[in-house]
Amino acid sequence: MVVRCKSIRKLNNNKRIHIKDLPATIICAIHNKNYRIDESRKLVEPIADKLKAELLKIGPIGFNNGINPIGNCAENNSANYLMLKKRSIKLKDITFSKAYRPRTAQKIKRCNNCKILFD
Ligand SMILES: [Zn+2]
Repeated sequence: MVVRCKSIRKLNNNKRIHIKDLPATIICAIHNKNYRIDESRKLVEPIADKLKAELLKIGPIGFNNGINPIGNCAENNSANYLMLKKRSIKLKDITFSKAYRPRTAQKIKRCNNCKILFD
């Protein structure tokens, strides 16, 4: 397989971006002709009702269940944006790009929390 993505560490010769300031993970959520690229970070209100209901089945939002803090994955943040813009979207209707770690260009596997929500 051809790897087209280089890590920012290799691209960034002038060092204006500190590696530690990059998000841990980025992903692109896609629904029909809409998409949202977002990163892993704390999921904050407003949270789409359908997404919130499914997250709460796993546990309290922000609680680390040993897999990841619930709701903090890039999948949740990117999907939330699309679901807030169009309330009729169901979780299973959203598709995702591969997830990447920009610091290393490493592909990140979907965590078990996100598998429950989106697979
Ligand atoms: Zn996840």
